[in-house]
Amino acid sequence: MKNEQVFKVFWTSGWDSTFTVAQYFRQGAHVKPYYVYDDNRSSRDKEIESIGKLSQLIKQRFADSGGQLDELTIIKRQDIKQSLRSYFSYKILKSRAHLGRQYFWLARLTKELQGTAVSVHKDGSVDHFIGECVKEVEDSTVGKYCVLKKNEADKHVRALFGNMSFPVIKLTKLDMKAIAEQHGFLDILHSTWFCHNSTTTPCGHCNPCKSLAKFGLAYRLDE
Ligand SMILES: [Zn+2]
Repeated sequence: MKNEQVFKVFWTSGWDSTFTVAQYFRQGAHVKPYYVYDDNRSSRDKEIESIGKLSQLIKQRFADSGGQLDELTIIKRQDIKQSLRSYFSYKILKSRAHLGRQYFWLARLTKELQGTAVSVHKDGSVDHFIGECVKEVEDSTVGKYCVLKKNEADKHVRALFGNMSFPVIKLTKLDMKAIAEQHGFLDILHSTWFCHNSTTTPCGHCNPCKSLAKFGLAYRLDE
């Protein structure tokens, strides 16, 4: 019997979230992607354009998978309701270690969009906060993904990350590269856009550029 579950995924057009969309679609899942439109990010229109191209590539490459990839839902950052409680928890965690501001908005969004996949990789800043307290869920369509063990997590970690799912938290960027190569979609990952400062040549200085270099994909900065 076909799995009727809809897999909600935050899609930035970058390496990790594009890997999740391609993996889920390839395995026949119904994927509903979301993008948070932030006026302060100069790459925002380039990212939406990239997602359009990546969607076509993924659908063509795995046309026989039985997967479904919905139109991108775009949510304006300023339309996300504020929550003092989430903000307080975000500030507390940020005082302990680096944590990007987007997790504050994503936490607020996942109160409504329960279970939406946030594609954070192994050894990254979010893994630092949640790695010890995630559990694996086995799904008959998409395989294993992780969620927070809510009863074991610190209350601020729970407030921010408790409603998300984590499809790639056990994978490094290089693990994803190997899996994409094995299943014939590494070229699609190489079509992703990641730099927040530029729409033409990766700047090498923003967080996504630095992250690619740090986690073994420095060659992409020369594209
Ligand atoms: Zn950059």
